[in-house]
Amino acid sequence: MKITQMKFTQTAASTSPKIQRVGVVGGGQLAWMMGAAARRLGIELVVQTPHATDPATVIAADTVLAAIDDVNATAVLADRCDVITFENEFVDLDGLQTLEAKGVLFQPSLSSLYPLLDKYVQRCYLRDLGLPTPRFWEWDCGQDLPIDFPLVVKVRRHGYDGQGTFIVKDSASFESICVKLKGLALLVEEFVPFDRELAAIAARSANGEIAIYPIVETQQENQVCRLVIAPAQISLEVKAEAEAIAHTLLNSLQAVGVFGIELFLTADNKLLVNEIAPRTHNSGHFTIDACKTSQFEQHLRAVCQLPLGNCDLNSAGAVMVNLLGYESAESDYLEKRKQLAQIDGSFVHWYGKKASRPGRKLGHVTVLLDEEAVEKGRIARAQAIARTVESIWNAN
Ligand code: ADP
Repeated sequence: MKITQMKFTQTAASTSPKIQRVGVVGGGQLAWMMGAAARRLGIELVVQTPHATDPATVIAADTVLAAIDDVNATAVLADRCDVITFENEFVDLDGLQTLEAKGVLFQPSLSSLYPLLDKYVQRCYLRDLGLPTPRFWEWDCGQDLPIDFPLVVKVRRHGYDGQGTFIVKDSASFESICVKLKGLALLVEEFVPFDRELAAIAARSANGEIAIYPIVETQQENQVCRLVIAPAQISLEVKAEAEAIAHTLLNSLQAVGVFGIELFLTADNKLLVNEIAPRTHNSGHFTIDACKTSQFEQHLRAVCQLPLGNCDLNSAGAVMVNLLGYESAESDYLEKRKQLAQIDGSFVHWYGKKASRPGRKLGHVTVLLDEEAVEKGRIARAQAIARTVESIWNAN
């Protein structure tokens, strides 16, 4: 995209030229999974990512090797594509603003990202919208705590996969966390004794169309997503409320693209918004194999001003299990992947990362559920499948 040229506007879907090259800031697995969808849509991806070994370099038509927050590199990216989107939100928004001012088209726009990148600012945004969130306070390690234990301390920026989120049960663990986090911008929030965690993966197009995937249940271990069950076993009221939250949020943000909305469901059936991700999301990976349109295709459709696709499941349900690194090693775990592929109804996705380390997301497995499995109890069946996957994956 020549940044001096006219760019598309959000309302010009019918008249805008066809978008053929999408720039993606970030070259991890989320960008890698856009590859198949881009091919289907006849779109080329140009990726900005720091390392030549990052997953998406193998599917990119072109790569700008640079840090995610390198604005000069994003200017180079802009010259090579028609529109820029994000698979990673750890960007320098103020720096990117100078590019947007020159006419570079970002989808979602930078104004949709501003309220989301800092966890405290995001909480304030949700509160001001009237959406339910855990109680929260801006805080630093030198201040008195605003609430009693248990509580949650979060790093305001750059947290992911639970890194930067600390559940603090007592003063001993609090002291050690304080030593670790001294000097960082933090927030404190109430610990929510949730019954379950849910997620809504929702897309909004430039002309305001919204499509929402079946609401899923997510299960985390040590604050990292372990498995996702689609659809969640929830009442119609909870489903409607989760969808209403997605509508309110995406419309208010004037979002374009797929957004992930993480929710807590309490024992008395109340929803609280935990976190919004302005991009495709781990809890939406099941859509690749289990839905009529994957979240990655949906994202590209929105970004490229194409009509949104159908979010319906194409099976009775699905379970997605993350393959998390459990050692520091260089291995492609081929034997284990072969065994995983033999599970009935399974699809194994391997991100091609060269190095494994504990907790690193190396791939995932989606297993489709049939009617019989669902009749016997979707959650129990999903848990059993997850145990099978993990017993293969974690075996010595
Ligand atoms: P990240 O951005 O690193 O994913 P999150 O804020 O989403 O961090 O938190 C990760 C996980 O930590 C959540 O999925 C949930 O299991 C737990 N968690 C986060 N905030 C709270 C809270 N206020 N109460 C209880 N558990 C929480």
